[in-house]
Amino acid sequence: MAPLVANYYLTNRIYLDPESSLAEDMTAVEDANLTDVARNLSDLRRLGVKYINLAGTEPLLYADIQQVLTLAKEQGLVVSLSTSPNLYLKQARKIKGLVDYLNFSLDDDNIIFSDKSASIEAGGSLLAGIELARSLGEYPVLNFTINLQNYHYLEAIAKLSQSFGVRVWLILNSLGAIGEDSPVSHHISGMSAVIEAVTHKYSHIGYNKAALAFLQAGGNDRQNPRCQAVDAAISISTDDRLLMPCSHIAQTAIPIEGKLFDLYQSSPIIEKSRKFQGKMPPCQGCTLWTYMIPSFFIGVDKYWWLNQLTYAGEVLARRRFLQRA
Ligand code: SF4
Repeated sequence: MAPLVANYYLTNRIYLDPESSLAEDMTAVEDANLTDVARNLSDLRRLGVKYINLAGTEPLLYADIQQVLTLAKEQGLVVSLSTSPNLYLKQARKIKGLVDYLNFSLDDDNIIFSDKSASIEAGGSLLAGIELARSLGEYPVLNFTINLQNYHYLEAIAKLSQSFGVRVWLILNSLGAIGEDSPVSHHISGMSAVIEAVTHKYSHIGYNKAALAFLQAGGNDRQNPRCQAVDAAISISTDDRLLMPCSHIAQTAIPIEGKLFDLYQSSPIIEKSRKFQGKMPPCQGCTLWTYMIPSFFIGVDKYWWLNQLTYAGEVLARRRFLQRA
């Protein structure tokens, strides 16, 4: 079966305040070469990949982003891009109509968290980014990476996003080791209760039910791995390497050199990585979103069902939401 998703790292640069002392260092990092990207996008399509996630720290800092998006659309790939509203405001017209899923990340850059009252306040760029996107015919969704430190803010985020008339999608990402004996596991139930209560009250907040159930169960089990990183997703680094089994461990980084299709079809290294997916020491308790969600599309079990239900429900919810908007 062909991998469903490709995580493509175009740049490792991060968006920083121009005043920051780090800004110069980060601009020295080499970005992906456009010729390599074009060749790989074509091979991804030949391999049967359907969905491309423009990953990396900030894809909109990639100089040729417009060309990459155009090429991806020409290959018929569904494109997801996550960015900060701040940067979107500068690049919006360049990418107009080229992104299927435009996500704004909610973080310290655009949200002011008040610890005492668990309230939040939007930074100026958030509403401006949403309004600009809408004026250009885009439908941005706010991605909130929820964790044990910030889940108390979920209701405040629900109210704010409701006032902006925008949907929120919860990212239930890695929370570190969450095996049965981990102290973290004792707090997961508190966070789950908040997620379930708030999403029940506010229909414009969505989350993946399979991901929450997986988190509650302690994440990936090395002895009986649910992670199918190699079968479900392809990850390509800025220096044109195939990261195996996933970008998190990247135990092997195979130079692609224009042979992505052949590599993925027949390389013994890929075959070997496949045998180790989800079974290495760092895999215990892993809940990495970018690999687990595609993995839930493989093999029929309760996570497969919950994942299917989630996406069917989310498609309907987004359709209804857009009709109302
Ligand atoms: S379980 Fe996590 S760390 Fe291990 S291969 Fe899968 S995604 Fe990578």
